[in-house]
Amino acid sequence: MSGRDDDSGGGPLLPAADRQRLRDFYAYLRQQAALLAGYPVAQDFDYDELKPLLDYSLNNVGDPFSGSTCKIDSREFEREALEFWARQMRAPAGDWWGYVTNGGTEGNLYGLYLARELHPQGIVYYSQHTHYSVAKSLHFLNMRNIMIRSQPNGEMDYADLRETLKVNRDVPPIIFANIGTTMTEARDDLGEINSILDELAVPKRYIHSDAAMCGAIAPFLDRRPRFDFADGADSIAISGHKFIGSPMPCGIVLARRSHVNRIASAIAYIGNLDTTVTGSRNGHTPMFMWYAVKRFGEPGFRERVQRSLALAERAVRSLKAAGIDAWRNPDAITVVFPEVSQALQHRRQLATAYGISHVIVMPHMDEPYIDALVAEIAADLENRR
Ligand SMILES: *Cc1c(COP(=O)(O)O)cnc(C)c1O
Repeated sequence: MSGRDDDSGGGPLLPAADRQRLRDFYAYLRQQAALLAGYPVAQDFDYDELKPLLDYSLNNVGDPFSGSTCKIDSREFEREALEFWARQMRAPAGDWWGYVTNGGTEGNLYGLYLARELHPQGIVYYSQHTHYSVAKSLHFLNMRNIMIRSQPNGEMDYADLRETLKVNRDVPPIIFANIGTTMTEARDDLGEINSILDELAVPKRYIHSDAAMCGAIAPFLDRRPRFDFADGADSIAISGHKFIGSPMPCGIVLARRSHVNRIASAIAYIGNLDTTVTGSRNGHTPMFMWYAVKRFGEPGFRERVQRSLALAERAVRSLKAAGIDAWRNPDAITVVFPEVSQALQHRRQLATAYGISHVIVMPHMDEPYIDALVAEIAADLENRR
């Protein structure tokens, strides 16, 4: 064990110039992390107790539910973290499966892959405001796809979905639903989608929930959105480094086990099942996911959600009081307002598209933080008038 656990910038292993370089880098990170306000990055994590893990090369190669001849892994913890999220997503008892991914993108790719294996001729329907990575995944998988219009709030336009499905009734639909769009945190409603599919008497269907943004928020809302397995999802992707919080990107994908069994094939070389997208898998990120689940549990997540919602409401109210046309979707932590200057976009790392900018309220923020941020935005927009 090295025992170097401070921010001093490396130990005697490095030449002095490189140690200084690290120190400068850490100072830069501290400053930028405090300013970041436009991306969903929770910073209230504290994984100090896991620091000894940096002395081990953990590899959860392959399926988390089957053993492996490689023993330096964290599969046991991974399964516990998955169980927690499967429960929150109301996964069918005994018929779910999942793993800790590299992020929401991999989870979405996985869901689409399962859908394609089940419905090779299927057409993927996804809305205009879907994450940019999905077009790439559809290209990887060579799946037919149709873009559906979005409503002004970012939610799928169900009338357009109905009309488009009608024309292709002979082909199984694969619905790619957004549970929190990137710009406005709009959620597509699985209840609405399913009733359209029922109305059109579509027998075979697949629904994937892209809950990268809201998967760790939606289960804890008083008005629970319709997005999970009980609402008809076949697979769900969640990001681990967004609302949950993790020092490195990761995510969780969950799917109905019966779907996964269709694609599983045993690989003798690793003594495991080749059910995952990548072979070698990060063994550290499942430990962060496990730690977050144990530290917060359901009450903790609920409290973080409530606190963030209250701050988001405060931000909207203050911006409006300053004469700014700010808004948020119901139960959203994303606060939307007219596009701010490039200077402020860069300074506060505010995502901007379609003429709007946004702040995403995260659990590490507090009232003074929000008030200072609102003042900066108000001053910036005042100057642009
Ligand atoms: C962040 C996000 C993704 C991509 O997830 P990563 O964890 O960045 O790979 C996909 N869809 C939505 C809606 C997202 O918010």
